[in-house]
Amino acid sequence: MAITTPTTLACLPARSPSRPRAARPPLPTPPAAAGTTPSSASSPSSPSVPTLAPGKTTLGFVGIGIMGLAMATNLLKAGYDVVVWNRSPERCAPLVAAGARLAATAREAAAEADVTFGMLSDPRAALAVATGPDGVAAGMAPGKGYVDASTVDAGTSRAVAAAVRARGGLFLEAPVSGSKGPAEQGALIFLAAGDAALFAACGPALGVMGKASFYLGGEGDGAVGAGAHMKLVVNAIMGSTMAALAEGLALAGAAGLSEARVLEVASLGAIACPMFALKGPAMVERRYPPAFPLKHQQKDLRLALELAQAAGLELGVARAAHGAYARAAAADGKGLADADFSAVLEAVLPPPKAAAAAASRGAA
Ligand code: NAP
Repeated sequence: MAITTPTTLACLPARSPSRPRAARPPLPTPPAAAGTTPSSASSPSSPSVPTLAPGKTTLGFVGIGIMGLAMATNLLKAGYDVVVWNRSPERCAPLVAAGARLAATAREAAAEADVTFGMLSDPRAALAVATGPDGVAAGMAPGKGYVDASTVDAGTSRAVAAAVRARGGLFLEAPVSGSKGPAEQGALIFLAAGDAALFAACGPALGVMGKASFYLGGEGDGAVGAGAHMKLVVNAIMGSTMAALAEGLALAGAAGLSEARVLEVASLGAIACPMFALKGPAMVERRYPPAFPLKHQQKDLRLALELAQAAGLELGVARAAHGAYARAAAADGKGLADADFSAVLEAVLPPPKAAAAAASRGAA
């Protein structure tokens, strides 16, 4: 698999009209790259999608998990008409209570909506929900669009794009940087590629859910895959960084140092990091309330390693970190796969003394 080199890069500050800022930027305009125009990324036969606007636009949202719930909630709060679908319909209850309509299938949500957003767990889920018989693509038509914010590999993203475009719809991949908190605060960072016209049309809605939107697409089909690649790069760094923090805390404990003091020292120097400040105190207390599930971080490192392998790169740090997440996810009876990814700490801590003693007695 070749790594796509994005030919355009733009960071578009995006804000909701309902939350005025001192200097609100104009609606996002996709950047023109040398030798191409943004509209060349759209399928020539697909009519564009009108710029999204509360009161005028119906938005679909499929995949109401941790992130989808927060994102769809913000769209509702901004005044959009929202139709939602989730495999487990009960997770849509808070949205329905807040005014969303519940669709029976992802196809129905997409058929009712002008633009549908997806936030699914992994490549398998993203493909199933987009391309299945009752999936989003089946509800697509010219003048509609699908924005997939799931973190997936580029191949999955391209397969979803093909299914949507085959029905005359426009497609944008738009995985996000930022976790549950930023999703609730409307402070995500979108990493988009695909049909530039859809990116432009979605500016107001991306602004409701995020604080910045990068268009990484380029010529031809909008370089679908560049957004997925950027997301995997970011999460390879993040997953390795968290694993390094976990090892540092484990080492501190083994050396008889206070883990809290380690966080304090780190916060004052060059390795100060918002993620350490956010997650560290709970890690010290061995609490891992799920914001970014560990199974998803493991998935992202796996996909990053596959991307690296295809490019002929060996990422030793990311590979070791992936091993730590895999060990944590497999830890018997601990349910760590669904815990926050900071639970990787459990994979690097020494076994409790009593358990270790029992284990060594058993081995003797
Ligand atoms: P989540 O809470 O685990 O939600 C996953 C969603 O996918 C649920 O709606 C789930 O439906 C659905 N799903 C899973 N398998 C499915 C299938 N086979 N068919 C249909 N639906 C399926 O995950 P999340 O934290 O919201 O993350 C969603 C995506 O965003 C992931 O790709 C993740 O890597 C990415 N992401 C997450 C964060 C974060 O901090 N949480 C940050 C950035 C990016 P059910 O409710 O029926 O299980």
